[in-house]
Amino acid sequence: GAWQNLDAEVLVPGDIVRLRSGDRVPADLRILRAQDARADESLLTGESLPRDKSTDIPTGDTILAERRNMLFAGTFLQSGRVVGVVTATGERSEIGKIHLLIDEIAPTPTPLLRQMRRFSRGLAVFVLGLALLLLGVGLLRQSLSTFELFLAAISFAVAVIPEGLPAILSIVLAMGVQRMAKEGVITRRLNAIETLGSVTVICTDKTGTLTRNEMFARYLRTASTLYEASGTGYAPQGEVTPSSADAARDAAAMVALLANDAQLRESGETWQVVGEPTEGALLALAGKLGAKDLGYHRLASIPFESAHKLMAVWVADRGGHQEILVKGAADRILARCRWQLAADGEQRPLQQAFWQEQIRSLGNKGLRVLALARTQPASDPAQFSLSTLGEELTLLAVVGIIDPPRPEAIRAIAACRRAGIEVKMITGDHADTALAIAREMGLADDDSMVLTGADLDHLTPDRLADAVRQARIFARTSPEHKLRLVKALQEQGEIVAMTGDGVNDAPALRQADVGIAMGVKGSEAAKEAADIVLADDNFASIARAVAEGRGIYDNLRKAILFILPTNGAQGLVILAALLLGLPLPLTPLQVLWVNLVIAITLSLSFAFEPAEGAVMARPPRNPRQALLDGHLFLRLGLVSLSIGGGSMAGFYYATASGLGVNSAHSLAVTILVLAQALYLFSARQLASSSFSWQILRGSPALWIALGLLLLLQLAFLHLPIMQSLFHTTPLSWQAWVSSLLVAFAIFVFIEAGKAIAASRP
Ligand code: ATP
Repeated sequence: GAWQNLDAEVLVPGDIVRLRSGDRVPADLRILRAQDARADESLLTGESLPRDKSTDIPTGDTILAERRNMLFAGTFLQSGRVVGVVTATGERSEIGKIHLLIDEIAPTPTPLLRQMRRFSRGLAVFVLGLALLLLGVGLLRQSLSTFELFLAAISFAVAVIPEGLPAILSIVLAMGVQRMAKEGVITRRLNAIETLGSVTVICTDKTGTLTRNEMFARYLRTASTLYEASGTGYAPQGEVTPSSADAARDAAAMVALLANDAQLRESGETWQVVGEPTEGALLALAGKLGAKDLGYHRLASIPFESAHKLMAVWVADRGGHQEILVKGAADRILARCRWQLAADGEQRPLQQAFWQEQIRSLGNKGLRVLALARTQPASDPAQFSLSTLGEELTLLAVVGIIDPPRPEAIRAIAACRRAGIEVKMITGDHADTALAIAREMGLADDDSMVLTGADLDHLTPDRLADAVRQARIFARTSPEHKLRLVKALQEQGEIVAMTGDGVNDAPALRQADVGIAMGVKGSEAAKEAADIVLADDNFASIARAVAEGRGIYDNLRKAILFILPTNGAQGLVILAALLLGLPLPLTPLQVLWVNLVIAITLSLSFAFEPAEGAVMARPPRNPRQALLDGHLFLRLGLVSLSIGGGSMAGFYYATASGLGVNSAHSLAVTILVLAQALYLFSARQLASSSFSWQILRGSPALWIALGLLLLLQLAFLHLPIMQSLFHTTPLSWQAWVSSLLVAFAIFVFIEAGKAIAASRP
């Protein structure tokens, strides 16, 4: 018999469910009560316009789209409020039936992965062509038998194609996504991770994201007195001082109680809100003021929407006396008032200037200011709407609600700014409140410019572009303004991350480069439109996501930079041997072996690689910058040459000094593997030097990978089955030492190259 927040999965037919605009319908419902309800059913019907919903029962056989007294699971309530009874859930719901028909849809790869796949495919064609050419040249020269030539061409193809690369990149990305999920950042679209690394502006909501969304109604200001409430949290107990008689205060308490959809519930020591925190705070205040619901019932209501920023109810008491009670953003209510209530219960003309001053002084303290008003009904409840509400309301009081900033958000804002990311606050709240909070958060100083939604409406596109760049605080905005702001910022080349929670924020979230929805406060419609969902609504999580995104992108590049030289080196070895008419230092099977062990050990460790140094101490990445720039290409070539050269030198030195072919092959493979293992330490630092003890402090995965590689290499040389499969022999300790020395020399050479590249601008 009481409202509760439950997971959709526990619903069963017969349960009663209450929804408001922006909610995703959790099961198929028959509507019992509806106000201004419209649902977006495009998911099911393909119809893009929202459908009106009501309790009217359609006659005869109807198609799905015409069942106006039904709401269907998975669709969205676009506006209004609905109470309904569950008729079907899961596979029996309309969407469930469709899901049964659809196979799982493959996840979309990110642009980077697509780019890499294209690259791999191009490379495969190129390599095949080259292998055929080699075959042709070899046949003309007749230095090798046709069979040997054929094997050499295959070795070359196997050597050059980075077979493991797409898999490694997917794993790096997937591990990154999982790490982010542990931090409370849920990635809905993989692209977002790459984009996060290049974000230049974050546009954030205030309430709940920068602040805690734990509201406490501290002040109540009537025409005669300023009251202050004590108490903690949402407990409806506490004192309100002074305690003089005041008709306006008592009337305001009734509005706070009745124009309210929230409920307070005691759980253990604390009180919790079911519904909106702002409304919970008002209920607690009403409780402290002793307001009691003595059998009122609602005849009609105008639900709160962030576009009009107020809520009104038309109530009747037991005696049939009717009244309209209104609460909402103070400036919006004030604009609809003509009267005010005095302490003695007299209705007097409104003192505009007095109230504006009160609103400003509460706002300057960073308080969210709501006004409470009432009026006598004139029309009929059936026609109750914003236009019939009129502008003759009687103002009772304004309330100042505290919503403390999140201390971690303050630190996160500072971190973002150090990382070259501009943070802008876009809020539905009043300009004074927004500025006061922005100052506390280190987002603004005393004379910072605040633009309101109304200001934005009057700006020409040119002026808008300027204003958007300069201002950091946007107040009293509605969701359409968010969309305009994102577009204006994007037109100036900014990469924008934008947060949102309401159903109307969906277009702006879609438009933003990274749309971020609030997991707790956000509507399902917003989450559906977003790329990322924050499990805790906290701005600090956005900053962490950006850092994580930058780290993941770096790891992808490192993995590519690490794997490609393995292939380059092997390809070069074979190419050179063939062109010079020398015996092949590596057999095709050995090439496969090296590719396999390097991919499953060393390359995989990049998935667990922690972000390098201070990712948030550098400016955002230029999104147009190519994955591998000239420097890195040069490095790839250099590394391939030196590792390939080392391995070849080992092979020819061994054969020249009279070792058997098998021993020479074994030495060549060992040099290749060891050089690649040391190169791992080089590749872990994209730009900075790896010549420090710091580099040895890697993730455990790194050491596991290295240990595994060593074991595999020992098995490769010592196990009889491997010896017969790969034609290998054990190496003498001298051979091991010289392999290590060669590998180390290559490492030093690569690091020297890195240092030279770093010293140039
Ligand atoms: P943000 O965009 O930063 O999350 P917000 O949550 O304050 O800001 P809205 O939800 O659009 O933005 O609220 C705008 C204003 O409407 C608030 O400042 C408040 O004055 C008023 N308001 C908020 N909730 C209610 C409500 N339930 N009933 C009446 N008025 C409300």
